[in-house]
Amino acid sequence: MAFTLPALPYAFNALEPHIDARTMEIHHGKHHAAYVNNLNAAIQGTEWENKSLEEILANVSKLSPAVRNNGGGHWNHSMFWEIMAPHSESTGSPSGALADAINGTFGSFDKFKEDFSKAGATRFGSGWAWLCVTPKGLEVCSTANQDNPLMDVEGARGCAGKPILGVDVWEHAYYLNYQNRRPDYLAAFFNVINWQEVAKRFAAAK
Ligand code: MN
Repeated sequence: MAFTLPALPYAFNALEPHIDARTMEIHHGKHHAAYVNNLNAAIQGTEWENKSLEEILANVSKLSPAVRNNGGGHWNHSMFWEIMAPHSESTGSPSGALADAINGTFGSFDKFKEDFSKAGATRFGSGWAWLCVTPKGLEVCSTANQDNPLMDVEGARGCAGKPILGVDVWEHAYYLNYQNRRPDYLAAFFNVINWQEVAKRFAAAK
């Protein structure tokens, strides 16, 4: 079973003005599609071609750089589309157990936002910032390139846990609209986080 590009759960322009339609169209239809195609090519005919993506990522240190880069790219973007949604009252802020955990770990939602945005802004070059569930509680961290906390590689070791929220800080995620202003993109991202979906992932990860 080859991996396939998941459909976007909303229209390309659904996240405007925070993330523009053209960026979404290229990001999903070109960048993510390429990760899927390259991942399939890298595992075709190997013992990994029928494994789950999570199992591949958990063993990725034994596999080629192509699997690491494109398998990570496929997992990361599949999550990224799901944890965003058009801004609305119901998606605007965390509630319930997730809100309690965020307040318990970071002190307040604003402090979490500051820490998460800083992780994204200070990741040098391309990568991702994450909010993870760890045995000790919630943790913010970042990884380079398409690495993620599910991988058994050196670059992901400071970022252990189950990711429940991630933001893409590659320039292709924001350059058309924000150019060099990554912090502005990160501030805008907070307007389109689908907190209901993050809460679902939080409940499943605990
Ligand atoms: Mn991307």
